[in-house]
Amino acid sequence: MGLIVQKFGGTSVANAERIKAAAKRIVETYKAGNKVIVVVSARGQTTDELIDLANELTDNPSTREMDMLLSTGEQISIALVAMAIHALGYPAVSFTGGQVGIVTDSYHTKARIRNINTHRVQKELDKGTIVIVAGFQGIDANENITTLGRGGSDTTAVALAAIMKADRCDIFTDVDGIYTADPRKVPLARKLDRVSYDEILELASLGAQVMHSRSIEFAKKYNVPLYVRSSFNNKEGTLICKEAKEMEDIVVSGVAVSKDDAKITIRAVPDVPGQAAKIFHEIARKKINVDMIIQNASIENRADVTFTVPRSDLRLALETAEKIKNDLGAKEVLHDSKIAKLSVVGIGMRSHCGVAEKMFSVLAEEKINIQMISTSEIKISCVIDDAHADRALRAVHTAFGLDKVEKEEVVKV
Ligand code: ASP
Ligand code: MG
Repeated sequence: MGLIVQKFGGTSVANAERIKAAAKRIVETYKAGNKVIVVVSARGQTTDELIDLANELTDNPSTREMDMLLSTGEQISIALVAMAIHALGYPAVSFTGGQVGIVTDSYHTKARIRNINTHRVQKELDKGTIVIVAGFQGIDANENITTLGRGGSDTTAVALAAIMKADRCDIFTDVDGIYTADPRKVPLARKLDRVSYDEILELASLGAQVMHSRSIEFAKKYNVPLYVRSSFNNKEGTLICKEAKEMEDIVVSGVAVSKDDAKITIRAVPDVPGQAAKIFHEIARKKINVDMIIQNASIENRADVTFTVPRSDLRLALETAEKIKNDLGAKEVLHDSKIAKLSVVGIGMRSHCGVAEKMFSVLAEEKINIQMISTSEIKISCVIDDAHADRALRAVHTAFGLDKVEKEEVVKV
């Protein structure tokens, strides 16, 4: 007998039919002899609809009231899931985040969990009750309702699994698992049986958004195995876990492309000590996240500095860059928002060489120009023209042997 946390995303509880299906799964797990904690998200598009409603009233809603509003979505789901379980004849009780003592800091709409009071959950589990907890929400030290940021129900589930020392945390969602690339862009993408926390953290930040990044960080820190699977079928999903030695045999686990960045170049910056510090000090002061940076070798004592920022911050970044240009006596500021970042990720890169070379060769064969390159221990990223992004993605996917091999089906009459 084990303790299992099961999280159901918004699409998995979107309507009565799906809530009944979720309840059936929960009861099956319970009947197999397990204690079960369930975490649910708001139904379907509820959270988006609530945000739209608030925006119709004001351009600048108070974040405290926003949390009060958004937390209602999950509160509806937990009650309905509990009722559906009762209808099947099994004991269940629903709780809001506050009721089970999920205490967060006070940063409304992006709060972080500080600690969880396990007493009430444990008491119910001991009685043999299925415990249903509202995802995405908590309370701060003054009992104000807080929320954890969009997609935060994953984090509630993982945090509960960690603190309750659950044997497994199932994430039921609307996809079959985690793929080698986004299947909408790469039809030959293959489902991964297993992937490490580090790989998924890199892939998630690259736009392969399957799970809330913070939930993976949590899972990694507390070593909670996550099993991502579809709530619509019984297919095997993907296990996200600590890396094991044999996982390094696979050099590249996934490829991803993101079009969320823009590139800025400050041309002809005088090449004297301290310039880079000044540039990035100003950018950081505006809370703009810089991803890649390159500086050319200087010509006549002047160098070009190029960096990428989130596209959503481009305007602010350009204003800042103009000011820096004047202060430093640089020549001009250029920018390009039609760029894409193509990345390959794999823990096997640590022990294999030639990965970067292979990626560059593929892009060369496709006649795609590389504008910037950055690497980490388990990732290589290239900035390219965004018009070629999807073609580049497919070519790299094929080159690293990630394409799925269709099983030959010989149907003879
Ligand atoms: N309902 C919240 C959202 O839509 C939290 C979640 O779904 O995980 O972002
Ligand atoms: Mg969601």
